[in-house]
Amino acid sequence: MNNYGIDIWGDDNFFINDGEVKLNYKSAPSILEITKKIRQDDVKGPLILRFPHLIKKQIDLLFNHFDRAIKENNYSGSFNAVFPLKVNQFPEVLKTITHYGEKNNYGLEAGSKAELLLAIASTPLGSPITVNGFKDKEMITLGFIASQMGHNITLIIEGIGELESIIEVANESTLKKPNIGIRVRLHSVGSGTWAKSGGMNSKFGLSATEILEAMKLLELHHLIEQFNMIHFHIGSQMEDIFPLKKAIREAGNIYAELKMMGAKNLNSINIGGGLAVEYEQHHSQRLKTYSLEEFSNDVVFLLREIMNSKDVPHPNIYTESGRFIVASHSVLITPVLELFSQDHQEKLLKFKESDNPPLIVELQELNRLIDSKNYNEFLHDALDHIESLLTLFDLGYIDLQDRSNAEILVHQIIKKALYLSHTSKTPEFEKLQTHLQEKYLINASIFQSLPDYWGLKQNFPVMPLQRLDQNAIRSASLWDITCDSDGEITFADQAPLHLHDINLDEEEYFLAFFNVGAYQETLGMNHNLFTHPNEAIINIDESSYEVTNIIKSKNILTILDDLGFDSENILIQLNKRLESSTFITKEEKNDTLQKLELFLNQNGYLRTTAY
Ligand SMILES: *Cc1c(COP(=O)(O)O)cnc(C)c1O
Repeated sequence: MNNYGIDIWGDDNFFINDGEVKLNYKSAPSILEITKKIRQDDVKGPLILRFPHLIKKQIDLLFNHFDRAIKENNYSGSFNAVFPLKVNQFPEVLKTITHYGEKNNYGLEAGSKAELLLAIASTPLGSPITVNGFKDKEMITLGFIASQMGHNITLIIEGIGELESIIEVANESTLKKPNIGIRVRLHSVGSGTWAKSGGMNSKFGLSATEILEAMKLLELHHLIEQFNMIHFHIGSQMEDIFPLKKAIREAGNIYAELKMMGAKNLNSINIGGGLAVEYEQHHSQRLKTYSLEEFSNDVVFLLREIMNSKDVPHPNIYTESGRFIVASHSVLITPVLELFSQDHQEKLLKFKESDNPPLIVELQELNRLIDSKNYNEFLHDALDHIESLLTLFDLGYIDLQDRSNAEILVHQIIKKALYLSHTSKTPEFEKLQTHLQEKYLINASIFQSLPDYWGLKQNFPVMPLQRLDQNAIRSASLWDITCDSDGEITFADQAPLHLHDINLDEEEYFLAFFNVGAYQETLGMNHNLFTHPNEAIINIDESSYEVTNIIKSKNILTILDDLGFDSENILIQLNKRLESSTFITKEEKNDTLQKLELFLNQNGYLRTTAY
């Protein structure tokens, strides 16, 4: 049975049982069951489920692996980490991170003023705050204010200009000075799609010459005691370990040199983020080639070797991995609204009382008698017949009803043949399967919820939540409900997505996208005015689970308000127009007004009668 590569991207977080996807944790609830329960509460449209235990798991893994590597290598520095806020700033995520991170002094990284404010307000005193990105004097002053409050904060300068601003603020105020870090520009370059942050042409960091200049300025202005950290970040989703090793060698040597030059309080090296997440569903397409064990061993071992050879004390290690911490914690659930060839259902067949064309009668027989022995031959007969029938139609010998019957029957025969062939698929059947691709319409916006698919062609693992004990043979592509032709997820012939053939009049069918917890939420955009999905927190315990903090997707009036419209005014206009139109009855008018009110207070996603 197809497991949709859950063993590749799932990291043991999920498993399939009784045909459903379940959480591999404590009472192991089914995601489908959780989804249905939440939707009972009139939560319609796409839904993000957050699993805090998966954030905890990643934080623990990160600290445990580095602590182990430090012990095994007799390393004398400590391990510290901060969570980069840009990866997911949603309140529930932040709450989980600060809650589970507290015992490890897990801190936060900020890259903008708004993020810095969040970090200052949310980081427990004593846990580190690092500040990257470009800063003006105001933002630097915020850093001084945080330091005054007692925060352990490091402003990491991206250029000499920033250091000059720090010097100005230090001269102008009596606030407690923050720590100062220097981002170094490395000649080694990263390897992932995002690897634009490292390298000589990087937007960020100081060159060797600038670092020497910065040292001079720090000395001159009596800030050298604040200088405690050097930093680099080689880019996100680093698929191989080699760029990191190169970067560590380079940055480690810069660190040792600066130490020897008199940076007396320099005690930390911050290796940025970049730990990758596996997003692929097919073995042949696996992305990530290293484990956290290897990653942590390499960092600790290489730093130890460099420092020992230059007789410099081992620096404390900081990481800023974000994707690795939160990607797995959230799952995007999208109801399927439609299959585009639903019209090929057997129940839509309408035969004539008598005188059905002989070829149609034959197709009926093929459809009735196809089995595991004859399916190959029967399929070929059916494909032959449909060609003849279409020609007969073009020549005017059969009518539209006959043609419809023929199309449905052949469609049915192909589907049956595909089922019967699934254990011994020949190239012919594989091709047939690809060509019989079905479009599944999902109640979601790719622009809003999977922006990295739209912008970077980043795949996310996707699978149905149900029927996993039944063969799925429909080769699928997914359409979202935006009216944009880019709102489609396609699958290559070598890496197809096979879904079930379902009758949506009779049952609901949900697809889930996994590993969507990093970057997608605030990167997502309101194209067509589809806004952030509904979300809920799922806490699982030994006997059951609890759904908390359901936040519904914005209603239509709020969406318009956010754009700068006056929704009250819009509502008044709409009511006025209805009031002045002529209704047959007063009831009908009231009913219409009520409907309007209701619709505008719902989110903008589609609602069908069933779901
Ligand atoms: C984006 C960013 C990170 C996080 O990178 P991940 O790939 O998500 O781990 C860390 N540090 C800096 C400076 C960043 O810009």
